[in-house]
Amino acid sequence: MLNNETKWVIITGGVLSGLGKGTATASIARLIKKDVKIVTVKCDGYLNSDPGTMNPIEHGEVFVLDDGGEVDMDFGHYERFMDISCKFDWNLTSGKIFNAVLEKERKGEYLGKTIQIFPHVINEIKSRLYKIAKQEQADIMMVEIGGTVGDIENSWFIEAVRELKKEVGAKNTLYIHLTYVPFLSAVGEAKTKPAQRDLALLREKGIYPNIIITRSKDILPEKVKKKLSLFCDIDQRCIISSKDVSTIYDIPIIFEKQGLFDIISRKFGLDETADLDKWKQLVEKIKNPGNQVNIAICGKYTALKDSYASIIEALIHAGAHLDTKVNLRWLETTDIEQGRLSVNQALEGVKGVIVPGGFGKRGAEGKMAVIKHARENNIPYLGLCFGLQLAVVEFARNVCGLDDANSTEVNIDTENPIIDIMPEQKEVMDKGGTMRLGKYEAELMPGTKTYQMYGSAKVNERHRHRYEVNPDYHNILKEKGLVLSGMHGELVEFIELPEHKFFIATQSHPEFKSRLEKPAPLFYEFVKTTLN
Ligand code: GLN
Repeated sequence: MLNNETKWVIITGGVLSGLGKGTATASIARLIKKDVKIVTVKCDGYLNSDPGTMNPIEHGEVFVLDDGGEVDMDFGHYERFMDISCKFDWNLTSGKIFNAVLEKERKGEYLGKTIQIFPHVINEIKSRLYKIAKQEQADIMMVEIGGTVGDIENSWFIEAVRELKKEVGAKNTLYIHLTYVPFLSAVGEAKTKPAQRDLALLREKGIYPNIIITRSKDILPEKVKKKLSLFCDIDQRCIISSKDVSTIYDIPIIFEKQGLFDIISRKFGLDETADLDKWKQLVEKIKNPGNQVNIAICGKYTALKDSYASIIEALIHAGAHLDTKVNLRWLETTDIEQGRLSVNQALEGVKGVIVPGGFGKRGAEGKMAVIKHARENNIPYLGLCFGLQLAVVEFARNVCGLDDANSTEVNIDTENPIIDIMPEQKEVMDKGGTMRLGKYEAELMPGTKTYQMYGSAKVNERHRHRYEVNPDYHNILKEKGLVLSGMHGELVEFIELPEHKFFIATQSHPEFKSRLEKPAPLFYEFVKTTLN
């Protein structure tokens, strides 16, 4: 049975996508976090089961959870703002829902019935929401609906959250709608018409929001709020303005100033707002940093920066703690391997290099050229997943003298498969959700830099890969000076070069666990080294 005490905050959006609904949701949660168990659910309209098989250029980063779930990147915001660990089940996609309904139909669970969006699909959504609330013993369920109101593919989610109010009670439900108020410079005015139309559409779907968050260039003048209040039938104090910000971490502070927490606490009877003191100090450092440093990120999805969202955030977190702004230089490594850009040129003025996760042959040689340069010139290097694998290949070629060393992902016929598919992956044919995913423990070698940075013998980081350092080559790598500083059984999780200023790589993705208030140790130490 549904726990009657759970409160529900439903977040919808309109006019445009990309207004920052995920960060708004995370910011609201951050404000009310104190002593309250908040569960964040995201509903995505697409028919994929999860974003794991989507191209990052199409969808942005695939965020990976402790439990191995590959989920929408908004979960990154939820985790980073609230310092929680989310679960795969909290990401509902139309694909997951339809799959479940169709499976039930084949099993005969609806015998005699015609299976329809209403009620079967909608009931499936609601029952999942209730199940999560119960399992997690949630005080507050925050449910973010992806896309915009009016999208066909989100309509079943909208209907489900509309019905929810009747079932859990109006006093336990709060609807927040994010809308857009453009500023027309030609007339020098913020225009509310799109928002008015948008809210009319939402009301047509049966949802009457308690709070509207307006996205606009600047904080809306009271006179504009007043107009919206009149036309949209909503208390003026419940119109919260969210302006363009230089850092998303400012959003909880902007919301707090406008009394958003008070509105929510009045409705739900919450005691105290979360403590934002440290948060505010860090945001101040992000906005007014004392230092800056240039760091290169070498990848092939640089056309859409969202592909590397967690890395960007992890660097911001580390920077905030070091009073430093990290300027990112994006290097498209295909430009390097195809001779359009020399490594020297590419790295001019750069104090540190990151090779992030990646897949496939294209750009791999370019990345290795950059790694070689960093290794030989004592430039701090942080390798993440593919960035570890290519660092090992480069080391094998240029230090161990195995000229044709490669990853079998890049060249299946290499004589020296330094990086090879993991044995348990060989038989895997399905592409969805079948990599080595999620949290695994690594044992760190005492006396190494890696150990020192984590300050612990065992660490848990998240993973998303099919290939590994081939155990047949561990000895030669070690003999030539590569330290395998962290292992999971036979699997290499961390490597380092002890003589180098900072040459550390990991098979994992520590960026997923970095938080503004708790930066990931490797990122923190990496940025710190680049400052010396
Ligand atoms: N393509 C590599 C593998 O599958 C690395 C994956 C990654 O960087 N996330 O092992």
